[in-house]
Amino acid sequence: MVIDSDSDFFRLACAVPLHNATTVALAKYGIELLVRRDDLIDEGLSGNKAYKLFYNLHAAREAGHHRLLSFGGAYSNHLYALAMAGARYGFSTLGIVRGARPTYLSPTLMDAEQAGMHLVFISRYEYRQKAFEHLLDDWHNQFGDFYLIPEGGAGLLGARGMSLAGQALEVQLKGDYTGVCVASGTGTSLAGLAAGLTAAGRGDKPALGFSVLKGDGDLGTGIAEIYKNLCANQEAINTTVAKPAANWRLISGFHAGGYGKKHPPYLFDFWRSFEQETGIPLDPVYTLKMIWGIHRLAQQGYWSRGARVVAIHSGGLQGRRGFVCP
Ligand SMILES: *Cc1c(COP(=O)(O)O)cnc(C)c1O
Repeated sequence: MVIDSDSDFFRLACAVPLHNATTVALAKYGIELLVRRDDLIDEGLSGNKAYKLFYNLHAAREAGHHRLLSFGGAYSNHLYALAMAGARYGFSTLGIVRGARPTYLSPTLMDAEQAGMHLVFISRYEYRQKAFEHLLDDWHNQFGDFYLIPEGGAGLLGARGMSLAGQALEVQLKGDYTGVCVASGTGTSLAGLAAGLTAAGRGDKPALGFSVLKGDGDLGTGIAEIYKNLCANQEAINTTVAKPAANWRLISGFHAGGYGKKHPPYLFDFWRSFEQETGIPLDPVYTLKMIWGIHRLAQQGYWSRGARVVAIHSGGLQGRRGFVCP
């Protein structure tokens, strides 16, 4: 599937199924849970990474680029999506991977290579330093011109894509929900989602981001900045949207040990029972922690009885291959 126009992409977003995932545990507290299955929009290019790449691809094409470069780890959903997007939209892709090239590539990187992505491995130290300046020159010399997409598809263009999911919810539910949840890494999706709700005239509905990072430190600063910028752009287009109060919240405390860390047994048990009960597969790094967090918040009385909570299934199921799964 190749989608070029905003309106086609928006139409796709409006057709994403909402699956009832009200577990017995949630029903006990009178909470209804709907999972928006953005993981199902496509085989290879799905989840929030599809939304986050959309306007990046447009920008690259508009600037006349034929090559895309971005960054990620060995199980990166972002690099995987980028490789698929490149193959489909006719870009060549360069994936800068954290760590030395292993003897055996992860399934993620194997697929990415298969899709035509050229993998460049750099040391963990260099990766962590984000000291790409001199490397960028090297890569330019080696590969020629490229369009750089930030790690994880983070940033304003990524968030703008994700705002379409927020706007689509309005078409689907017409305000008949309490709030929307999403798993947060960089927080780009959270910012976009919140801005999308606001643009649709639902700035009163909270968007909750469940952080998967142990130290989410100053993440909120970046989210606030992106949210503000997106809303300002939307105001310029749609003058009926009054200056919005921020409707996003970043929720900490459900990282369960940190990014990509081995799960404690209780979380693994929760994972298995949720999948058995609802038939909805979760990825270990992101959506599992969000769904778990939703259950904990429900138990703690965060929502009143009768609440209808929407959770974004942001995809990432390809990453299950690197994990022991239920
Ligand atoms: C990348 C990713 C996220 C995090 O998105 P951010 O915009 O960085 O917050 C959430 N869920 C899945 C499945 C992802 O792959």
